[in-house]
Amino acid sequence: MPTEPDFGDVRPVFRFAPSPNGRLHLGHALSALLNADLAHASGGRLLLRLEDIDTARCTPALVEAILEDLVWLGIRFETPVRLQSRHMADYETALDALRADGLVYAAFGTRGETRRHASLFEEREGRPWPRDPDGALLYPALDRELDPAERDRRIAAGEPHAWRLDMSAALGRVAGSLLFEERGEGTAVLVPAEPELWGDVVLARADTPASYHLAVSVDDALQGVTDVVRGADLLPSTSVHRLLQALLGLPVPRYHHHRLVLGDDGLKLSKSRGDTALAELRAAGLSPADICRMVGLSGHREQP
Ligand code: GLU
Repeated sequence: MPTEPDFGDVRPVFRFAPSPNGRLHLGHALSALLNADLAHASGGRLLLRLEDIDTARCTPALVEAILEDLVWLGIRFETPVRLQSRHMADYETALDALRADGLVYAAFGTRGETRRHASLFEEREGRPWPRDPDGALLYPALDRELDPAERDRRIAAGEPHAWRLDMSAALGRVAGSLLFEERGEGTAVLVPAEPELWGDVVLARADTPASYHLAVSVDDALQGVTDVVRGADLLPSTSVHRLLQALLGLPVPRYHHHRLVLGDDGLKLSKSRGDTALAELRAAGLSPADICRMVGLSGHREQP
């Protein structure tokens, strides 16, 4: 049976952190409502962060649309809202610290090169090339040992590259096993982090100076977030965040990964599926209480 979470003496800080690259759908509604409920139940604060570092896909119009959806749902967040695109310097500072520690390298390999490397390996070895928890092929890291002069020459020549974490060097820096507290929707358990499953993750690209993993870890610390409430699809990513927290000396929040809202076909909802967009449901005459019921929460709720 789920128990009432114990938040201790410090006033908890929650955040809902959607990416404004599409309209909010029912899955976002569940996340936002659970954040609001837990903040309310614990006398905590509720922050909103818009994860808009991918400026090619995130637009100011979508930011406005998300704010409108949240007002309609009846959730009130503290102001100011943090827009990641306005804080790139914070992520650069963190990246510089990791670079100074020799934990980041310039990676020039393309997706096509990774695919070719993986299929040659599979033909030769008769076993699959490893994939990360999202199913992507791990980066072969052929340029991890690149001569610094050659690396600088290629960067100066404008060759596209990403900045990747040297996973084995990073793991060598942390003492003992990394754990995080996972509360799911009930009792707390300590989960061992497994960042090695992700290989040399991207921390920044030339066109987007911070990856999701880097920005989320830095922001949760800068905003004093004590409780991260988000969908279970992000549970594997938490291992990377836990490692970055250890490397950067950041506090470790408690995690509450919640069930996902699935479509009628049993698949995870995505922003490309208009049928579950809150705006569409609202236009079809549904109320915020209907949305609560559709995501399995009681329709009559007190708002914080
Ligand atoms: N921005 C992420 C998303 O929309 C969520 C990040 C998080 O809650 O940590 O999927």
